[in-house]
Amino acid sequence: MAEIVRRMSFPVNVGGIWIGGGHPIAVQSMTNTDTADVVATAAQVQALAVAGSELVRVTVNTREAARAVPEMVQRLRDDHIHVPIIGDFHYNGHILLREYPNCARALDKYRINPGNVGMGRQHDDNFRSIIEIALENEKPIRIGVNWGSLDQSLVTRLMDENARQHAPKESREVIMQAMVLSAIESAEMAQSYGMPRDRIVLSAKVSGVQDLIDVYRELATHSSYALHLGLTEAGMGRRGIVSSTTALSVLLQEGIGDTIRVSLTPAPGGDRAEEVRTCQDILQSLGIRSFSPRVTACPGCGRTTSTVFQEMANDIQEYLNSRMPAWKAIYPGVENLKIAVMGCVVNGPGESKHADIGISLPGTGEEPKAPVYMDGRLMTTLKGPTIVGDFIRILDEYLETRFG
Ligand code: SF4
Repeated sequence: MAEIVRRMSFPVNVGGIWIGGGHPIAVQSMTNTDTADVVATAAQVQALAVAGSELVRVTVNTREAARAVPEMVQRLRDDHIHVPIIGDFHYNGHILLREYPNCARALDKYRINPGNVGMGRQHDDNFRSIIEIALENEKPIRIGVNWGSLDQSLVTRLMDENARQHAPKESREVIMQAMVLSAIESAEMAQSYGMPRDRIVLSAKVSGVQDLIDVYRELATHSSYALHLGLTEAGMGRRGIVSSTTALSVLLQEGIGDTIRVSLTPAPGGDRAEEVRTCQDILQSLGIRSFSPRVTACPGCGRTTSTVFQEMANDIQEYLNSRMPAWKAIYPGVENLKIAVMGCVVNGPGESKHADIGISLPGTGEEPKAPVYMDGRLMTTLKGPTIVGDFIRILDEYLETRFG
């Protein structure tokens, strides 16, 4: 497998989790509760952390929210949830962080959007205030540019300069340039106020896949700050997952990105942790990190016309999902396990040989038997109505022997 060469960046410690500098690419998520609601926000942070989010961001948009942050964080720590909490600030971060010092202390990182800290002289003063508070509390920052709230004075300046050129660029290119400049110039401004470069993370989020790839390639080329990747406003369901996966995969494959988030719009009542699992699946599919055993399941075809194969494959997958939290605690390394659950003997035995343990379920019209391979060798052939239960028992024994 071709090795991914990571872009080197300054390592940043966020509440005990390292970002950049060659450390594992961290999975992030963000709550969608009202941060002023301590109970609901603490519960959602906990759910995200349990799902595997290594950093969780909460919006801090009002005095009520800023007041609630210390209690919310304390609740989490009392419940032994130590995930770093990042405060997301827009417009009034300099006021809230100054008025609520306990909030400033409780958070592990501040996200600042340079397009939303005021205009002109006020912009620089407000920005400087946040940097000074971060320095007082020894907190890192993320300078998070978003093209929906790009610094308009910068855009106007670049557009004017571009218009005077002999061969002006297209406005899209100028906007992309503005995003990169906004991020880098803000980081340099923060450094000029005393913020060390290894306490700065950059992001420049857009909602188009090609735009995101272009912006991050530029950011990666022109800076050495740790980078947070994410497609903003990716959308709902399948579309959001596919767009985010496409954009992030290209960049991650090029070694760009130190922490990622997949911003999915949840369906009403949907599970917010879906964005965490999607991040994990992206990293695992690229072979960058492992989070849970990889199940190779064939899609089924005309050889699996009955629902028997789907039901069996589903039962095995559900068993893995339900046991994984316990296995992770008792079987270190179990997340690297490869399991094959195949629909018939056409590709089943071959795929099973490549897995650590694999089963070829009987296809339609085939003899009702299921060969099981272990470490590349045929171990047994299961028959009868208890194939799934028998396979699970063999799997349990395999795990105990290999990881126990
Ligand atoms: S392994 Fe068999 S059932 Fe599965 S897709 Fe291939 S031919 Fe079809």
